[in-house]
Parts: sequence; C-alpha cells; structure tokens
Amino acid sequence: MTLSHDVLIVGGGGAGLRAAIAVAEDDARLSVAIVSKVYPMRSHTVSAEGGAAAVIRPDDSLDEHAYDTISGGDWLCAQDAVEVFVKEAPGELLRLEHWGCPWSREPDGRVAVRPFGGMKKMRTWYAADRTGFHLLHTLFQTALQYERIARYDEWYVMKLLVDDGRVVGVVAVELMSGRIEAITAKAVILCTGGCGQIYPFTTNAAIKTGDGLGLAYRAGAPLKDMEFVQYHPTGLPFTGILVTEAARAEGGWLINKDGYRYLQDYDLGTPSPKPVLRSMELGPRDRLSQAFVKEIEKGRTLDTPYGPVVHLDLRHLGETVIDARLPFVRELCRSYENIDPVHELIPVRPVVHYMMGGVHTDIHGATPLEGLFAAGEAACVSINGANRLGSNSLPELLVFGARAGRAAASFASGAQGGTAVRPAVQAQVEDERRRLERDLFHRDGKEPISAIREEMRATMEEGAGIYRSGDSLAKAADRLSVLQERFRSARLEDRSRTFNTELLAALELSFMLDVAEIIVHCALLREESRGAHQRVDFPARDDHRFLANSLVHRDADGSQRVEYPPVTITRWPPGERVYGR
Ligand SMILES: Cc1cc2nc3c(=O)[nH]c(=O)nc-3n(C[C@H](O)[C@H](O)[C@H](O)COP(=O)(O)OP(=O)(O)OC[C@H]3O[C@@H](n4cnc5c(N)ncnc54)[C@H](O)[C@@H]3O)c2cc1C
Repeated sequence: MTLSHDVLIVGGGGAGLRAAIAVAEDDARLSVAIVSKVYPMRSHTVSAEGGAAAVIRPDDSLDEHAYDTISGGDWLCAQDAVEVFVKEAPGELLRLEHWGCPWSREPDGRVAVRPFGGMKKMRTWYAADRTGFHLLHTLFQTALQYERIARYDEWYVMKLLVDDGRVVGVVAVELMSGRIEAITAKAVILCTGGCGQIYPFTTNAAIKTGDGLGLAYRAGAPLKDMEFVQYHPTGLPFTGILVTEAARAEGGWLINKDGYRYLQDYDLGTPSPKPVLRSMELGPRDRLSQAFVKEIEKGRTLDTPYGPVVHLDLRHLGETVIDARLPFVRELCRSYENIDPVHELIPVRPVVHYMMGGVHTDIHGATPLEGLFAAGEAACVSINGANRLGSNSLPELLVFGARAGRAAASFASGAQGGTAVRPAVQAQVEDERRRLERDLFHRDGKEPISAIREEMRATMEEGAGIYRSGDSLAKAADRLSVLQERFRSARLEDRSRTFNTELLAALELSFMLDVAEIIVHCALLREESRGAHQRVDFPARDDHRFLANSLVHRDADGSQRVEYPPVTITRWPPGERVYGR
C-alpha cells in the first residue's frame, strides 16, 4: 500500500503547522499530512523565548518595520518580501490571539510590546519569555481541530522523490519500526528548521541538523545566502542554552571582566560615534558577537573550562521585574549554571543561533523545483538578508508558512494526474531501501560517527565562525572533504530497527556535512564583509560586486555552482546600517 496525500509537509514546528492549517482552510477537498521526526510540540519553535515582531502601536508604521529589517539585514533582504512580511505580520499575530495565544498585556489591556535588538520602535509581542511555547501550542491545538490533517510523528524523511523534474513525495523511515516507506504527494512543503548543530556551541536543539536543506539541494533545488550564519551574543557556556535578547531589552547589561560595559567602545552602527548607553546592549547580534571577539583579543574576557566569557548583569532589574518578565531566564540559570541572576552575574558567550540562508523561494514559498515549497527557518525568501533581527523569525514562519500552504494547496488542486507511483519513482524508493540496508545497517567501518561530527563542528567554528578569512575557509573546505570521505567508511554499532538513534544520527550527519561544505564554499566566494559574514581579508561591504544573493546549485557531477542574482530593491536603496532607539 502506498501512503499518499495531496500536500505533504515535512516538519511540525511553527512553519509546518501554520502551513497545514492554511492548506486545510484553503480547500476542504485536499488531504494534507505532516511528517515530523519528533512529536510536533518538541520542535525547536517551542524554545523561542523573546517574542514576535509586528507593528501594533499608533506611533509605529509598516515602513519603519521594513526599514529596520532591511538595514538590519545589511541590504541583502528581498525588499518585496519584506513589504509583504511587515504588512501581513500583525494580522497573523492577531489571528493567533483568536486561536488562543496568551499574549502578555499592558495594565490597560492592550497587547504588550517590548523593545528588541535593531528595532527602533517597540513592536515585539511576547508571552512572558515563553513565546515559542505558547505560539506552538496554539498552532498545534488549532491543527488538531482539522481531522483532515494526518500526522506521521517520529518519521524521518531521507529523500525527496523527483519524477521528471517534479517533486512527487518523499522516502521516510518510521523510527519506531525502522520500516522505510514512500509517501507520495502532489506538493511537498519543507518546514524543517535550521542547522545550528553543525557548530559546537549553539542554542539550537539537537534536532536542528539542516535535513531540509540537504534534501532540497540533493533533489536539485538551489539554496540561498548560505554563508550568513547568525551568532547570538548571549548563550550559556558549555550548553549553548540561550539567554534571550529580552533580558537586554528589559535593561540587562553586558560587562567584561573589569565590570565595564564594553559595548560603548564599539561602533554598533548607531548614528552617533558613541552608542547611547541606554540602547547599546540592543545593538545588532552580529556586531555584538564581533565585539566579543575583540574583547578576547584585548584580554578583557574571563577564561572558563568552556572558553572565554563575559557577563550579563540583570541584578539591577530586581526580583520583581525578573520574575514577571524573565521567569524562564531565571529558571534556566538556576538549573543549568546553578546561579540566581537576581543576585549573580550570568556568564555568556556568542553561540550559533540562526541560519539566514535556506532553500530559495519566492514570496509564495515556491522553490524553482516544481511541486516543492519551503517555509520557516529552512527557507530563504529572504526577509533576513545578511543578519536577522531578533523576533522577526516567528512572524516570518507564520506569514510565509501560511503563504506556502495556500500556494501548495492551489498547486495540488491544479496538478494533473493522481499520486500513483510510476516505475521510475518506485526504483528510487528501492534504491533508498538498499542504500540504508547496505550503507548503514551493515556498516563495519573504522570509526564512530560521533568523532566525525565533533571534528566537523570544530572545523566550522575555526574556519567559518564569527570572523572568517580566505585562508581559514580554504582549510575548512579541505578538512570537510576529508571528513566526507571518512564518513563513507564510518562504523555503525547499533543494528536494531527500533528507535535506532545511531542510524538517525548518521543520516543527520550526512546532511550536515553537505550543508557545512556549502556554507564554507559560499563564504569563500563572498569577498566582502556584510552582516554576519565578516571576512578579515575583505573588511568592507562591497555593493559593487556583492549586492547580490548567492544561489548555490548542485550540478550533475555533484559539484557546487554559485550564481549571484541581484538583490530585489523596491524603495530603500543601500545605505549605512543605523541602529539604536
Ligand atoms: C532558543 C531559541 C530561541 C529563539 N527565540 C526566538 C524569538 O524569541 N523570536 C523569534 O522570532 N525567533 C526566535 N528563535 C528562532 C525561531 O524560533 C526559529 O527560527 C523558528 O521557530 C523555526 O521554526 P520552523 O518551524 O522553521 O522550524 P522548527 O520549529 O525547528 O521545526 C522543524 C520541524 O522539522 C522537523 N524535521 C526536520 N527534519 C526532518 C526530517 N528529516 N524528517 C522529518 N521531520 C523533520 C522537526 O521534527 C520539526 O518538527 C529562537 C530560536 C532558538 C533556537
């Protein structure tokens, strides 16, 4: 029996659930399914803390939100997409309220908003510091109301099925049994999230391994702007757990080992030469992470067993504010660092947080590969350009999740033919079964995959971290190709079929190695510094050569080919980046 649906969504996080609801609302005749490698509520969206940006106050405007996003993205954003995004974001957040999301309130009953890095007006809606939890819960309980939305929880998608240049479904393994099945569909939407796990220190959950990027790329869809990797300036050392930007929005300070608010010594892109003390901790994430590296060079950080750190100081906010606005931060610090931020300093360091790049889509979530759509962090529309502003990602996954859902629904309604599997497609499924049996279940290789994974992570941090150079990137590229080779002869010890987590880790590592190579390759070719991509050998932004997105294609021989289509500019010609409130 073949499993078959009209629209198949890979990913049960915020983007996937929003897309599924959009399909179900759009056309009652369509069957829609969500495949997710974890139970939907365990998707990374659940851990978003700080909030979701959308214009709501009378002193704010859509143009200002658009401008902040575009200048924050160092002019690499597709401006038509940003205009759509800021316009539709308020409606999406209100819809969520109607579906039950408990947005925090002002005493007079209005929706509360907080300041956020790079946003010149207060427009970040929040539900205490558990925004992602409430958002995902709201979407999940709404999706549950539609019986038509089928779910394959704890199924792992290994491959996209392509027939004659068109995506016609996926091959997936059911983790509980190890059985491998084709699930066919007229349209597939990738909502698989980011891939912070290719770096050693990350806020990203262990499941964020870039599978969707690898799936799309291998199937022939191009990836966009992959060299732009966002570091968040305040992760807990060792675990990488995020201390939300909301902690600084509420008035937290970053101080070095001398107790000095060091950000005042750096150009954060503010109009005045010296940033205003009040707002400097809310400078853009890329500039704050870069300032940290400079503090290391000046010997003004503290050494710990997990590398150098600075401190985040919340003590002056007092217990009442911390408990009301940042309860989760207090809980995390107590549980994972054994410190109480009401009385103690929090050690922090920059950690990888978000991928600006992703599967190239248009403003409807469609990729150039027929039948394939993408939304959320896995996609690159692009509204984030070279550096995402905090709190833009949650509204992005709502706006473009809904758009991708509607576009996929209309594509599936108009698609010719049924979802019967043609022999050529059946052959791909059999190939995949054989590959798993041969390569993975019966592998007596030399070394465990964990060793290769650790080396990949160290390679990325050293070669393609906060600062990069032609030299560091070239070395990283060499090391990664050796790691690819070693991966092919790695060893799998677990031969069982029931919840074989080692097999899962191997499949994930194979995607991560591909994505890591792509990031390094694109970073090597972009000979300029822009947003999160800082080249020490090319320190200036070069609009003449690189006011362009990078699009990386996989050629027939497996090599990477990069093109540079110009950035879509509608109303905001490139200027200096300006921050501060
Ligand atoms: C700690 C943290 C805090 C954050 N805070 C904020 C914030 O305050 N505001 C903000 O705007 N943004 C924030 N972000 C960013 C934002 O949360 C994410 O970008 C966003 O939630 C991603 O949602 P998504 O739906 O695209 O992917 P995810 O929520 O990551 O979901 C991915 C889904 O894909 C599935 N999947 C992946 N691969 C496969 C596969 N091979 N087969 C089957 N299923 C698969 C997973 O099971 C999962 O369901 C934060 C991120 C982190 C890590």
